[in-house]
Amino acid sequence: MSNHFDLICIGGGSGGVATARRAAAYGANCAVVERERLGGTCVNVGCVPKKVMWNAAHTAGALEHAADYGFDVDVRGLDWATLVERREAYIRRLNGIYERNLDNADVTLLRGSARFVDAHAIEVGGERYSAERFVIAVGGAPTWPDIPGAELGIDSDGFFELTECPDEVAVVGAGYIAVELAGVLHQLGARVRLVVRREAPLRTFDPIIREAFLEAAAADGIELVNRFVPERVTRENDGLVLHAEDGRQIDGLDQVLWAIGRAPATAELGLEAAGVETAADGSIPVDDYQVTSRHHIHALGDVTGNPFPLTPAAIAAGRRLADRLWGGKAGRYLPYENIPTVVFTHPPIGTVGLTEDEARARHGDDAVTVYATRFIPMEYALAEQHAKRRSAMKLVCVGPEERVVGIHLFGMGSDEMLQGFAVAVRMGATKADLDDTVAIHPTSAEEVVTMT
Ligand SMILES: Cc1cc2nc3c(=O)[nH]c(=O)nc-3n(C[C@H](O)[C@H](O)[C@H](O)COP(=O)(O)OP(=O)(O)OC[C@H]3O[C@@H](n4cnc5c(N)ncnc54)[C@H](O)[C@@H]3O)c2cc1C
Repeated sequence: MSNHFDLICIGGGSGGVATARRAAAYGANCAVVERERLGGTCVNVGCVPKKVMWNAAHTAGALEHAADYGFDVDVRGLDWATLVERREAYIRRLNGIYERNLDNADVTLLRGSARFVDAHAIEVGGERYSAERFVIAVGGAPTWPDIPGAELGIDSDGFFELTECPDEVAVVGAGYIAVELAGVLHQLGARVRLVVRREAPLRTFDPIIREAFLEAAAADGIELVNRFVPERVTRENDGLVLHAEDGRQIDGLDQVLWAIGRAPATAELGLEAAGVETAADGSIPVDDYQVTSRHHIHALGDVTGNPFPLTPAAIAAGRRLADRLWGGKAGRYLPYENIPTVVFTHPPIGTVGLTEDEARARHGDDAVTVYATRFIPMEYALAEQHAKRRSAMKLVCVGPEERVVGIHLFGMGSDEMLQGFAVAVRMGATKADLDDTVAIHPTSAEEVVTMT
């Protein structure tokens, strides 16, 4: 095997694998370097195990509601260990599929940690490899607070290592990972305190989503602890204690889960040797074409600090880069807008395009028209004893033709509902197009095309 390639992708996660496979399909001689398990964050400690846990939590919710439909169900509990064992077996199968896919595509897999030795070569396991081009797709890792006792907590990776469901948890963080893990833990039996530094979580989301989430979380029993700035964690006789700067404390905790953000994994890459510039937070700035400060070194996915740190965005950026460089598709790139995203809360959130505030800031107040609705979905038609989580939806439209520039959904089925509507937004659909689409009845989705 030669140690010289057309392309070396550093990182065998969503972005690196997608780029190498697409480039190889065009005939490029490619390698992927991976130091841990293939599939990266998404497969091993992100989307995939998270969705398995969400499915389990969703099932728990369905079992609770079974009695409403006349079922005589006696749920004796959840065997968390079995759930984790099956989840990990599934992930191992995916790891194998990733490896076979690389093999079938004739992509060389280099196992180990990559480090640039100069602008055209890296070292992996003491061996030197060179390439015409590099793609840096090393992703990131959870951030930890710099406070005494922080190490007594766990991060999202640690969540996936839990061997049982904790009774009392404080989930610290305001982003999508925090609310997702808080929801899963709550549905599976934990008492959850969602701890945020400011007023509320999900601050970048449209207010209708934030409010609907807060209402549903409160009705469910997730306790929001706001304006709480963690100062230290201590271990006392009855468990962990999370102390705030203002003197408040949450005690008797089995786990403190830090979900306060993620940082790019660039510290040990030797980027100085390659002359690749980084931003103050360690992320790698790129232009529209995923080009770093060195024209033959590209970066994509979470490491770039792009506004959509999501698997499909990393994959799309990588495939389009390969299309452009090896597939003869000049000018192809990924614009980071109208990328749909789902937050797997209970019920889920789906959002694409601009929030109302963003639309007003970009187009002016007079140009923006908003349609919104709140309703109890039919799943609760027979529910008597349980909290009924209200759905909420908003369309953000601009101009006299009312082009739809934002769709925000909260409620059962939003996760599956959004993808098709994202196509419509991308194609420039107007409110009249939605109105002219015959509804599907009885569904929640029909509300999107019947809003007045
Ligand atoms: C809890 C959680 C839930 C998530 N849920 C979702 C979701 O539902 N939907 C969604 O779209 N996204 C989700 N994400 C985000 C998604 O996982 C990331 O956006 C995606 O994995 C980014 O892909 P990437 O290729 O940039 O990096 P990664 O997938 O992180 O891959 C980077 C790889 O590079 C390797 N690596 C790092 N440094 C080196 C080195 N020096 N040498 C060799 N290898 C190296 C790492 O081991 C890793 O395997 C979630 C993330 C988390 C943490």
